Amino acid sequence: SPPRRDFAGADPLHVLHEVYGYDAFRGEQAAIVEQVVAGGDAVVLMPTGGGKSVTYQVPALVREGTGLVVSPLIALMHDQVDALLANGASAAYLNSTQTPQERAAVEQAYLAGELDLLYVAPERLNLAQTTALLQRGRLSVIAIDEAHCVSQWGHDFRPDYLALGDLGERFPGVPRMALTATATRETHRELSERLHLPDAKHFVASFDRPNIQYRIEPKVDVRRQLVQFIRTMPEGSAGIVYALSRKSVEATAEHLRGQGIDALPYHAGLDAGMRARHQSRFLREDGVVMVATIAFGMGIDKPDVRFVAHIDLPKSVEGYYQETGRAGRDGEPSVAWMAYGLGDVVQQRRLIDASEGDRTFKMRLGQHLDAMLALCETVGCRRQNLLGYFGQSSEPCGNCDTCLQKPDTWDGLVPAQKILSTIVRLQRERGQAYGAGHLIDILRGASTERIVRFGHDKLATYGIGADLSDQDWRSVVRQLLARGILVAKGEYGTLALGEAAGPVLRGETDVPLRHDVLGRGGSRSSGRA
Ligand code: ADP
Ligand code: ZN
Repeated sequence: SPPRRDFAGADPLHVLHEVYGYDAFRGEQAAIVEQVVAGGDAVVLMPTGGGKSVTYQVPALVREGTGLVVSPLIALMHDQVDALLANGASAAYLNSTQTPQERAAVEQAYLAGELDLLYVAPERLNLAQTTALLQRGRLSVIAIDEAHCVSQWGHDFRPDYLALGDLGERFPGVPRMALTATATRETHRELSERLHLPDAKHFVASFDRPNIQYRIEPKVDVRRQLVQFIRTMPEGSAGIVYALSRKSVEATAEHLRGQGIDALPYHAGLDAGMRARHQSRFLREDGVVMVATIAFGMGIDKPDVRFVAHIDLPKSVEGYYQETGRAGRDGEPSVAWMAYGLGDVVQQRRLIDASEGDRTFKMRLGQHLDAMLALCETVGCRRQNLLGYFGQSSEPCGNCDTCLQKPDTWDGLVPAQKILSTIVRLQRERGQAYGAGHLIDILRGASTERIVRFGHDKLATYGIGADLSDQDWRSVVRQLLARGILVAKGEYGTLALGEAAGPVLRGETDVPLRHDVLGRGGSRSSGRA
């Protein structure tokens, strides 16, 4: 790598040109750098790809001493350090993958004042010996990356982050920064408290990605829908298709190839050689569609991804935002497309039930999922819903499916009451609970073997929902699940009354349901949900 250059005391913009080759700071970068260079603390909320690295690296270069970066991602540390070295900055990391000799060399370099930046994992920083070592040298700034990991309510909670609250005492006078791409207002407050940053200036970048068009549709025949969607994109568009399981990744990639789309699978179960080949084709060639599990995308810097498609429901809005955010980093028009169905909801609830963790934890996961479903089922602007989730208010965007075509709604109160009272009757009269399929059979008056065997054709609600198709009913159930009027329980996703069921049973509320989700009003309605 090129020889180290000393930027102590230099103009931040000069450093930005010299080290990174960028013309100007972007968005709030300049203000953040100014705050920290002057010795102040900062809390930085910026979406992935927003340019957080520059905001702590430039102050580290400009101020005397070494910038300490706390990061939980050992793999990314390595890339960051390589990139800095290539630009003539001096950087190193301390982590568990190193030999004692390698670590000793880094420690010597730090003490000799030769490092601009030092990356360290939180568990290592919390060792008494690491603190003692760092106290013997000079720190210019402390940047806590992925700061939302300190939040117990988030899905990335790391106990090691809790101990970072006393960094101010361990290193008095050193400006501290907390940076994250995933934080709701609530986590935002929580992280300032737990990391003891009462006087920090807060920088909240807009989470809006105006060039991304959001489109969400109900699953009917997801592979056919996916192919149809991809065909609406300009020829040669690169894209990522996210699926939940490895099996589905492989089957989908094969299906797309069968349709003449240049698709490749990517998941952790493929051998390293194949993964590397597929990734490199995706990065270098035009028009490759990567079908992947969510493992793919972290640290992938491809600016011209034209679409991100989800064929399974993400677990949370944060996840959805992060994954869709990989589209259109070049600012050109791009699409985030998703298809979701009842099966997704039931499967996710099942995963939550089966997960380890106490009731509160499961409840939180359930809330994450509900927020995701609310985004899917919204009759308002998708972007407004999405930004609202991140605490940002906005006007309807005009560039999402619900803005471009106002969804028609109808009042689903009566069907909702029909299914709720069927559930209540089965529970009260027979102590039984069933999944959506069987309940719909009862409502539609089907004469399946199970219905006859259980005598369910004798129920008062048998056949009272014959006016709706099976498809319509599935959609009603999905929307009722999304609103907490129904809940799916246990291994089989049996349906029960949700928290919001009371007012519906008593007829005290409207239940506006989307027509198009129902497959009515001339939209996609064939096949199964
Ligand atoms: P984050 O850590 O917030 O996800 P990064 O720091 O990795 O984002 O930056 C995202 C991308 O934006 C990178 O490709 C980076 O090179 C680029 N970038 C950051 N700041 C600037 C800037 N001021 N001018 C041009 N490109 C920038
Ligand atoms: Zn909109």
